[in-house]
This record gives sequence, C-alpha cells and structure tokens, in this order.
Amino acid sequence: MKAAVVRDNSDGYVDIKDVDLRPLKYGEALVDVEYCGLCHTDLHVASGDFGKVPGRIIGHEGVGRVSKVAEGVSNLKVGDRVSIAWFFKGCGHCEYCLTGRETLCRNVQNAGFTVDGAMAEQVIVDANYAVKVPENLDPIEATSLTCAGVTTYKALKVGDARPGQWIEIVGAGGLGNIAVQLAHNVFGAHVVAVDGNEKKLEAAKKNGAELLIDRHDSDVAEQIQEKVGGVHSSIVTAVNKDAFTTSVNALRPDGKLVAVALPKGDMALNIDKTVLDGIQVAGSLVGTRQDLAETFQFGAEGKVKPIVRTCKLDEINDVIDEMKQNKIVGRVVVDFTK
Ligand SMILES: [Zn+2]
Ligand SMILES: [Zn+2]
Repeated sequence: MKAAVVRDNSDGYVDIKDVDLRPLKYGEALVDVEYCGLCHTDLHVASGDFGKVPGRIIGHEGVGRVSKVAEGVSNLKVGDRVSIAWFFKGCGHCEYCLTGRETLCRNVQNAGFTVDGAMAEQVIVDANYAVKVPENLDPIEATSLTCAGVTTYKALKVGDARPGQWIEIVGAGGLGNIAVQLAHNVFGAHVVAVDGNEKKLEAAKKNGAELLIDRHDSDVAEQIQEKVGGVHSSIVTAVNKDAFTTSVNALRPDGKLVAVALPKGDMALNIDKTVLDGIQVAGSLVGTRQDLAETFQFGAEGKVKPIVRTCKLDEINDVIDEMKQNKIVGRVVVDFTK
C-alpha cells in the first residue's frame, strides 16, 4: 500500500513509498483510510523537530473504515468509520489514564510520530483507542475535528467556558477559527477574536465573534478591559509569545488563560495581577477519546464546520510548500478514495 513517509535526511518533506503493514495483533483493527488532513505537526515530524523518525508514516488527522479486526476486538466491526488522532494510545494503567487525563500519559503513543500514522492507504489501530465517526458527519470535515476541533474544544473546557461569558480567542487561523465556532455555538459564549489578518477576523465575525481586535494595536488588553470588562477566559492559539502576556492582561478577576500554541520562549506573568485578581494559567494539549467523540457529535449537528479542500497523495510535497509559505486557509486533506 502507498504511504507518505519521513525522508532519511528529515528535510521536512515526505516520500511516497510502497509499504507492507505487519499482521494485526490482539485487539487491533485495520483501517482503510478515506481521508487524512495535513497538519503543521506533520511538518515538524518530517523535519525531525521532535526527534528524527526516518521511515515513519506521518498523519494524525485520519478517517477511514475498518476493513479487518483481530481477535479481542469487541467495540468495532468491519465497516465502522473511525478516526486516527495524534493521541493514538495511552498506557491504560497510569494515574492519568485512570483518571480521565489520558493525554498526559507519560507512555503515550502519537500517530504519525511514535507509531505509523494515517497518511497511507491503510493504518493499524488499537481498537480501544479508535474513536467512531458519526455517519452523518462529513468525513472530510471530520479529519480537522480530530485535531484542531478536539484541541480547541478541550481548551474551552479547560477554561471552564460557560454560557454568557466573554471568551477571547487569540489567533483566528486554523485552530482559532474552530475555537470561535465552538465558543459561540456550543458553549453559548460571547467571543472576542484577536488576529493580525483582516480576512481571518472577517471569518471570525461570520462565525459569531462580536468584538474583533487587530493584534498589532498597542492596547489590545486595554480595549478588552474597557469594552467588555475583561474576559472570563482566553484561549491562546497564536504562535507568538507576546500574545500570552497580552492575554493575561485581558482577563477579568478569576479569569483563566489557556495556553494552546507552542511558541518558543517564556511568557511574562505579572505577580500582582496573578495574586490580586486570582488569575489561573493552564496548558491544554489535544483531547481525550471522549472529548473527540463529543467534538464529532457537534460537527454532525452542524455547530462546527472546518474549512477543508482535498488533494491527491502525490501532491503532498506541493501542499507542504504551500503550508510553509502560509498560503492555505483551513486544511488540505488527502483523498484516498479515488
Ligand atoms: Zn494536527
Ligand atoms: Zn498512561
């Protein structure tokens, strides 16, 4: 079967190769991939930024149908549509796995990095960790929900989002655009969107953001304090460390900053503000299987709609170039059905 694998020199591109999959083990299922989105995380893997993994099949935004199940599989049957996400598998028995915080498992496996991923005609999954995709959800849109969707949904939960609150979404791009939709349509919150790109702010407005702010303004936090009295939570998806500092200052007392993006460096946290205003700061990484199932359901109900377009597997390195040049709005998804 054809697969996109990391090159030996980890130069940031992939080779399309014929790969033979090993036989299934107990508890595993074989999935015929229909669609797989290409994510910036895949580009980091292909460049060796998290450690070099030559020969690894990339891809963690995969959706496909189960074509075979091994012994010991009771939750999936042939024909079921399932997803392959970055959180591929936890150890199942540590403190985090046992208490609903499985994404923090120290022995986590990540699709397309520590195990072969879904940018291939077929992928092997652990049946217990493959989340079913509702039949009434567009499978192309579902690929983005496995990554940007579940990540922002989880971040909103970590920020204790509630109806009627003001929530700041910093960065209105791939993650932020979906965060705006979820904050507005699922959590019933009022949204402040902050971005430097007019088109992205315009899209945020269409998705329900009520207050739009250009990140280049020198008084972003002051504007938010003045206009809405500060936000209850701020979800930072912008890969810019200064955005984190600004966001702390945009919080109202008892506000929560949720860090999602991963710029290099440190954030400044004013101690007076933190103590006197009871500010909380939390990191949030992807989401659990349950978070993903809930995200899919909201997608099926039309409450969140990612921007997607498809391409062929052999066009993937051109898409990588487009991504590096920041030319893509939404996600490009490889179509394996043709
Ligand atoms: Zn991703
Ligand atoms: Zn664990």
